[in-house]
Amino acid sequence: MQFKDFNFKKDLHKAIEVAGFIEPSPIQQKAIPVVLEKKDIVAQAQTGTGKTAAFGLPVLENMKCDGSVETVVIVPTRELAMQVSDELFRFGKFLNIKTATVYGGSSYSRQIKHVESASIIVATPGRFLDLLKNKQISIKPSVIILDEADEMMDMGFLEDIKSIFKFMPKQRQTLMFSATMPEPIKRLAKTILNEPEFITITKSEVTNTSISQSFYVVEEYERDDALMRLFDYKNPYKSIVFCRMKRDVDRLSSYLVSQGYSAKGLHGDMEQRQREEVIRSFKGNTIEVLVATDVAARGLDVSDVTHVFNYQLPFDSEPYVHRIGRTGRAGKDGIAVSIVTPAEFRSLKKIQKDVGATMESKVIPTINEVKKKQQSSLLEVLKNQEIDEKVYELIEKLKNDFDLSTIVYKLASFIADTEKVKGKDKIGKSKKDIEYLLSRVRDGHGGNRNRSQRRRNGGGSNRSRNNSSNRNRNRNNRR
Ligand code: ADP
Ligand code: MG
Repeated sequence: MQFKDFNFKKDLHKAIEVAGFIEPSPIQQKAIPVVLEKKDIVAQAQTGTGKTAAFGLPVLENMKCDGSVETVVIVPTRELAMQVSDELFRFGKFLNIKTATVYGGSSYSRQIKHVESASIIVATPGRFLDLLKNKQISIKPSVIILDEADEMMDMGFLEDIKSIFKFMPKQRQTLMFSATMPEPIKRLAKTILNEPEFITITKSEVTNTSISQSFYVVEEYERDDALMRLFDYKNPYKSIVFCRMKRDVDRLSSYLVSQGYSAKGLHGDMEQRQREEVIRSFKGNTIEVLVATDVAARGLDVSDVTHVFNYQLPFDSEPYVHRIGRTGRAGKDGIAVSIVTPAEFRSLKKIQKDVGATMESKVIPTINEVKKKQQSSLLEVLKNQEIDEKVYELIEKLKNDFDLSTIVYKLASFIADTEKVKGKDKIGKSKKDIEYLLSRVRDGHGGNRNRSQRRRNGGGSNRSRNNSSNRNRNRNNRR
């Protein structure tokens, strides 16, 4: 099946062609015909599977373009509002469809002016509700879309969304898109949608995506070294490192910069302008590493992220799915790497079970292994290196003092020497340790104990008491 097969207007087909879309993704194949029939839908598919076009294309096809605001898309964040609006603009370009974005933190008056001349509004819930409540805009859209509904729930927008719908016409088409489908979303769907069709893209339809997932086991204090070693080994082109907390983002991003990596942090406490600048430099390849919290990276659409690193594991499988969905986008290969401590084994197990994909356990490369890898990449580079005319003079000068083979050795040492590998030789757990530690979690033991603790705890009845107190401590740590 191809986009050509849809019975769209010529100008819409043209925009699809310009965008380079040929084959609709599974969610697009399922959702587009239903949306075209003006039915309500609840659609669930993993991040990065093309949900924007799944509602965008059929909605654009159905629009009358009569100069009124016909469509409203509600999204969780400002970044996402801009992205969705860009994508809709791209597809609506030849139909002369104008989009306006409405979000907090920028001027009311300018947004209101844009809204009045737009056919599509893309808005975050808070600001949109403000405008409606204060009667600053009066609109009667015929289609309302809740995009990334689960993230909006997570961010506490449920009440705002309910209130927004009080201002919306009863006669309408309502579409809900989400990566996951927790209970509150299903309940919301019942109250605001009208006999919706449920569309789900199952795990097997998405886990054939090309994201390879692996994890490394370390002690808490080894996380930084582990991350940098993996950078040195994998040499990622463009990566996102996820941290649980804003202060980790600040600390880790500065530390990475101090260690010579090209990194910047992104989290919700930063000013809008600052955040936009960071995202721009990440998209434009001025930085290679983006260190971010889950919230800050929500909906971020950077299509060429090669690696996602979980500096810490998220507690649950939903954020995990969102995180790894930042790579392997638009049919590209992606690599998702998690740095895990034994205290996180329960989360690990849960994620493995829920996600249903295999996460391979791996051992962090030693300094020598990194060097070998670097050497072989250097070899590749040298093999393919064209000879620059300018070096003849340099070599001639060197030849005054050395013979050619000495010069070659010197130059090679000079190049190789720039590749210093940081950190101690062995970081993290061996394959055997990982298996042992994991098997203990499987047997119902606490996961948070290293070897020396185990020895100290001794045997007999004493031991079981220690076990349970340890377990409690684990639980408390996680809260
Ligand atoms: P989601 O909302 O499911 O996370 P997006 O709508 O943001 O996914 O799409 C992810 C990326 O894939 C975007 O860059 C989008 O332009 C691209 N994309 C979507 N559908 C297709 C398709 N059928 N062919 C090629 N690229 C696509
Ligand atoms: Mg989306």
